[in-house]
Amino acid sequence: IGQTHGLRMLGSLRKPFSIQDLENLIAPIETRAFKPDAADLRKALDRGDILPFFQPKACLVHPSGPAICEVEALARWQHPQHGLIAPGEFIPLAESTGMILPLTWTMVEQSARQLAQWRADGLHLSVAINIAPAVIQDLDYPDRLAALVERAGASPEWFTLEITESGAMRDSEHAMDILTRLRLKGFNLSCDDFGTGYSSLVQLYRMPFCELKIDRSFVVDCIDQSEARVIIRASIELGHNLGLSVCAEGVEAQDVFDYLHAQGCDSIQGYHVGYPVPATDLPELVREASRRLLEIEP
Ligand code: C2E
Ligand code: MG
Ligand code: MG
Ligand code: MG
Repeated sequence: IGQTHGLRMLGSLRKPFSIQDLENLIAPIETRAFKPDAADLRKALDRGDILPFFQPKACLVHPSGPAICEVEALARWQHPQHGLIAPGEFIPLAESTGMILPLTWTMVEQSARQLAQWRADGLHLSVAINIAPAVIQDLDYPDRLAALVERAGASPEWFTLEITESGAMRDSEHAMDILTRLRLKGFNLSCDDFGTGYSSLVQLYRMPFCELKIDRSFVVDCIDQSEARVIIRASIELGHNLGLSVCAEGVEAQDVFDYLHAQGCDSIQGYHVGYPVPATDLPELVREASRRLLEIEP
């Protein structure tokens, strides 16, 4: 069961996870006893049961050598009876019920506080937050997000907002307006799951992205799939030619890591670098992952 995606979601296994956690994670979604509805999610948000786990991202082009400079905040539902619940089971519900807005605010707020705390402790990190299409609808949201971040003792420059390619292209003129406002507030912007949506290259060129994040479906098995490697190389070249930094997600093995490094990928995220873990486990994971990164050939 160590190979299941679910167990990996738990991150560190040093914690005493409940049997319910483990059953939750290995059972297929259809057979689970608990199927959350809108009222359950509302209660979870009110009680503070939705929290960020953090997954490190290795920066390969850092001036002083490869380093962990950023983490991605990934939502987890810590249910008092049903254990840890993966975002695939409640983000769609949050999106269809309008609760994606309060969910995003709490992810941003908790991440901002955590980041400020880590920086005060000498651990200098930035954080990436996933932003659903609904969150880039309202012209007031950029101001609101920046105010939220500042109230929590952090700065928009410490944040990267990950917007899926399909989310950004849905209503591209309007999205462009909001993304520009976010960028002017100081937020960094990343085009998440790149390669799975349908972006026109002109739109990609005009949108104020800082980073292009190659979807993990191209990355996981790229060593055995020449088509995937063609897409990866083309994405890296396109990103660089547009002045963007290029990240690959879903890197699970050393050979994939080495391939992406050799192709000039700027940063790498995946189980090979580190699993998503609770905030308390992140400093130790960053230290351990940084040690491993320093062994990389320049
Ligand atoms: P994403 O933004 O593309 O995040 C990457 C997902 O890939 C995460 O799944 C992460 O745990 C997983 N992953 C990381 N490294 C590897 C790897 O090496 N191999 C494999 N197979 N998977 C890897 P997770 O945490 O289950 O999140 C799934 C999706 O849920 C995210 O995809 C994102 O779209 C969404 N999500 C998570 N948290 C939030 C949130 O706070 N707000 C919104 N709107 N969406 C969220
Ligand atoms: Mg993401
Ligand atoms: Mg992604
Ligand atoms: Mg993805």
